[in-house]
Amino acid sequence: MNFESARMRMLREQLIPRGITDQRVLDAMSDVPRHLFVQDALRSQAYGDFSMPIGLGQTISQPYIVALMTQALELKREETVLEIGTGCGYQTAVLAKLAERVFSIERLKELHIRARQTLDQLQVLNAICTTDDGTLGWPQYSPFDAIIVTAGGPDIPKALIDQLADPGRLVIPIGDRETQELVVLKKENGEISRHVIEQVRFVSLIGSQGWHQ
Ligand code: SAH
Repeated sequence: MNFESARMRMLREQLIPRGITDQRVLDAMSDVPRHLFVQDALRSQAYGDFSMPIGLGQTISQPYIVALMTQALELKREETVLEIGTGCGYQTAVLAKLAERVFSIERLKELHIRARQTLDQLQVLNAICTTDDGTLGWPQYSPFDAIIVTAGGPDIPKALIDQLADPGRLVIPIGDRETQELVVLKKENGEISRHVIEQVRFVSLIGSQGWHQ
């Protein structure tokens, strides 16, 4: 299997036709070897137009959703990003190509450790990962220019809005446990605006400002 050509086909058939126009996002996703973030048996399907299991009941998001959320963050090279839900670390690696530093929090230690191993293998040095409840953010490193939550919650955790810089962008799936709306929240001159960009299905955001277990 030629993974590089599968990656190019993913851009051509899944991302560009659906409106992913930010060249930096397209370049990042053509660089990051997505197949290395899934288990061996699933590698040949890693560039398919779907999410896939990564163990412990969690999933790696569909490529289009990774691209859409990343594009919505409008990252600049010198910025700092907070990611909630490291999972396998794929989205982390994409963000690391587009920002100066990525802080990523995963609730499940086993996933955090596995993601860190893959990120180390790819020499992603500007991503700092930890195991914790991300609904509380990471106050020590705040404020963040951008925040991305890759699990669906009942509402936007207040701690994350507080830790967002001004100006700043936050993207998060909000809804019930089955389906959510992908919300982009912007903070600018002390004002907060929100709009919905897509209907999505994410695994649950579990934590003190998310769903209960
Ligand atoms: N971006 C990931 C998506 C993983 S699925 C990827 O591409 O692989 C969402 C992840 O969010 C799961 O790994 C889940 O364990 C994690 N998660 C759920 N609630 C969380 C919380 N409160 N804090 C941190 N991580 C959380």
